[in-house]
Amino acid sequence: MKYDYDLFVIGGGSGGVRAGRRAGTLGHKVGIAEESRYGGTCVVRGCVPKKLYVYASTFHESFEDAAGYGWTVGDTSFDWKKLVASKEAEITRLENLYRSGLKSNGVEAFDSRAVLRGPHEVYLEAEDRVVTAERIVVAVGGTPNRHVSLDGHEHAIISDEAFDLAELPKSIVISGAGYIAVEFAGIFAGLGVDTTIVYRGPEILNGFDNEVRALLHEEYEKRGIRIITEQVIDKIELGKDGTRMTHLSGGEVLEVGQVMLALGRLPLTKNLGLELAGVGTDERGYIKVNEYSRTSCESIWALGDVTDRVQLTPVAIHEAMCFISTEYKGIPEKPDHDLIATAVFSHPEIGTVGLSEEQAVEKYSKLNVFRANFKPMKHALTGRDTRMLMKLLVDAESDKVVGAHVLGPDAGEMAQILAIPMKMGCTKADFDRTMALHPSSAEELVTMYEPTYTLIDGVKQS
Ligand code: NDP
Repeated sequence: MKYDYDLFVIGGGSGGVRAGRRAGTLGHKVGIAEESRYGGTCVVRGCVPKKLYVYASTFHESFEDAAGYGWTVGDTSFDWKKLVASKEAEITRLENLYRSGLKSNGVEAFDSRAVLRGPHEVYLEAEDRVVTAERIVVAVGGTPNRHVSLDGHEHAIISDEAFDLAELPKSIVISGAGYIAVEFAGIFAGLGVDTTIVYRGPEILNGFDNEVRALLHEEYEKRGIRIITEQVIDKIELGKDGTRMTHLSGGEVLEVGQVMLALGRLPLTKNLGLELAGVGTDERGYIKVNEYSRTSCESIWALGDVTDRVQLTPVAIHEAMCFISTEYKGIPEKPDHDLIATAVFSHPEIGTVGLSEEQAVEKYSKLNVFRANFKPMKHALTGRDTRMLMKLLVDAESDKVVGAHVLGPDAGEMAQILAIPMKMGCTKADFDRTMALHPSSAEELVTMYEPTYTLIDGVKQS
């Protein structure tokens, strides 16, 4: 054999493990290296622990809401260390499943940092040796931006560290207002931490539908989260007692127990030997790939967050499956990044598929907007002041549903299901002839018969 392996994968996260396992199943000789823990960002320091913490953060509201249904809940208390330990046990279980899945598919897994030495050469640091492979997949992912230009950034944490804090702070400032900032704000506030978001723009969750953004802002304020917009953190100073004096651009100084930076993520491409293999990157360090995930080096592919596509676990897995189909099954398959359902696990949750109203009006000259804003039935008895929003955006000419947005309980679950008909190209008429499931929140999606308003060339019609 010309090479040690048919395929060598660098990075044991969602994309890398899927590519390695599938190639192994097909009978190829596969090696994989991971420098941290198998499972990668999603399992170890992302989606999975985040969702567990989101669950943890919602119980106190349930205890309060129970009173409206006749329950008397006794004294409650929360133990952060217990939550961290339970989370740790669960991700260890998942990490072991990743390892056993690789093993059972004949993949040789290394616990080592691996870097490229050439188009077919990988250097395994822990073993101090070079292995060769016919094909190489780079799936090393990304890491939170520590924003080193910020004065006092070393006194702040990033999301990786937020999961394992020794103590839950009494107060926190979160910088940024993207997915991670907004989700962690919901988690911390739900666990009783006095929480403030500081964001440079006019409204949280840039890129999402404006109405959804505004309603989540309101809901967060109802839950005691302070949101400071159009400001940034200028400096963080550490006080003797561990207090972080957080200086804002508007002049206010917030004295808090912890500061978290959630300012986007960066690809882990530094010192990866990309130049030795002729793998090109863009100006921010993301690996450039063609539509089949192939890099500028013929024998090297890149998948997942190390490429500047859509940074989501199912997308990395899909890119891996397309790579396998193209390279090992002889069926060329390009990853399809259109109409990806996504959720923000805020509290309340956001689920979205397709275009926001702001994006849709740019694309369609006549846009019908169907909207329902209501109090979820569960809260008829709890007295909780909370709203739910459903919104469908329809191209008036074709009747196609081009955007669907839900804010409220189980919004993510609804978005996943909505993505199926939307991917099939469904029309509003398809929604209208679908029988409602009563009583449910989702029935609103099929009972909004008349447009709430219409936009013609971006102008709202009265
Ligand atoms: P995002 O890109 O979502 O958000 C980054 C935030 O930081 C934005 O509010 C951005 O502002 C702000 N920001 C960036 N640079 C600066 C700066 N120099 N000064 C001040 N503010 C700044 O990144 P996240 O880190 O939250 O998440 C990374 C990715 O991970 C997401 O894009 C998503 O793909 C994925 N993810 C998905 C989740 C899910 O599916 N539920 C959960 C968590 C992460 P602005 O908008 O103005 O640029």
